[in-house]
Amino acid sequence: MDITADIGDFSGHAGPDACPGALQVHTAADGALARVRIPGGALSPAQLRELAACAAELGSGVIELTSRANVQVRGLRAPDPADPSSVPAFAARMAAAGLLPSATHERVRNILASPLAGRVPSSLADVRPLVSALDRALCGTPELAGLSGRFLFALDDGTGDVLSCGADVTFLATSASGGVLLLGGVRQGPPVDLAGVVPLMLAAASAFMELGDGGAWRVRDVQDGPALLAARLFGAAQEEPGQSDQAGDSGPAGDSDPTGPTDPARPADPAGPAGRERAGVRDAGTFRQLDGDVALEVVIPLGRLTAHQAAVLADAAPEARVTPWRTVVLPGLAPDAVQQVADRLTGAGLVTVPGTPWAGLSACTGRPGCAKSLADVQLDARVWAERPDHEPAARPVHWAGCERRCGRPAGEVVDVVATPAGYRVAGRTEEEGT
Ligand code: SF4
Repeated sequence: MDITADIGDFSGHAGPDACPGALQVHTAADGALARVRIPGGALSPAQLRELAACAAELGSGVIELTSRANVQVRGLRAPDPADPSSVPAFAARMAAAGLLPSATHERVRNILASPLAGRVPSSLADVRPLVSALDRALCGTPELAGLSGRFLFALDDGTGDVLSCGADVTFLATSASGGVLLLGGVRQGPPVDLAGVVPLMLAAASAFMELGDGGAWRVRDVQDGPALLAARLFGAAQEEPGQSDQAGDSGPAGDSDPTGPTDPARPADPAGPAGRERAGVRDAGTFRQLDGDVALEVVIPLGRLTAHQAAVLADAAPEARVTPWRTVVLPGLAPDAVQQVADRLTGAGLVTVPGTPWAGLSACTGRPGCAKSLADVQLDARVWAERPDHEPAARPVHWAGCERRCGRPAGEVVDVVATPAGYRVAGRTEEEGT
């Protein structure tokens, strides 16, 4: 569908919150910031190259990865200083690249998915087709354009990786043919077959809109939200016995810990992701795929890709999967090509070897891009990560220039927050994301 003609007509300010998109941008101290939703984190090489070109030609030259596996470009400016139309130009190029299929629903296409779904032995179900189906159905349901831009769907292949991302509506596979639904992180309702997943997730979103009456952005904003939502969806059905824990505590389905040393997806070679055992920290390394190919997970320092780095990634593999952990998974690599690809990526400043201090490290924009910031947090985080005596952190660490802590990952995080008197360090358990 060609929507470029519609973009110019879009008012750009409708919606229940100010969460930015590619059309409804955020005005920051360093210019307009546009966020592009990437359902399932899946980007073709051509899309990645176009993002890189747009970042270089219209923006600050950097693509930022968000904690919801979306991307954003900031500092948007006009290619011609006399023409202040950089935002429409950016949106038109995203639409032409297939990254903006709906002007009305662009901000609500927040769909996480397990990045290795269907490719590795620990993946119980291939949820990739569900991502496309959910995206199409979401964009085809007019009333769901009114969802908050923060409302989040997740499709977990049974490994439990995106289960911990704090989504409002999560499908968790428990077999190749079906699984269970979690609302606000709490399992609700009977098991569902794969064929019923998309209609059920859409029904949950519609029920949430009725329940929140336009005033709530997330399920957690509504008191007893999961139970009330389940009552609307399933009638008299109750929360599944023994499943009332928050998703992050109940753990994934399946027999193996996907981050543990017995994970059958793990490579046997010593160059594999030996450092991935750090709780909640996703590290660099390789996965052996079911088809014999290899997937390489690349850590992007501070989640920021230069246009050159993005182009190198685009040249490396037939597909890139952005993850909520500020990594990019490159699937489908021939085993004998992996080292060459890794060398090229390392040469571009990306990280392909486990045990890196960049894994699990994130930072908000800070100074000078954000007027609210009390510090240049990206510079300070880099200095911290590059100290010779730096030990990789046991938990994700997020640096922020103020208490708002933009871009903070979901779950257990060590917060390093700027104050007028220096940084304050504290570990908290909260869910947030961009
Ligand atoms: S956390 Fe504060 S300083 Fe950092 S980007 Fe958000 S508002 Fe700005």
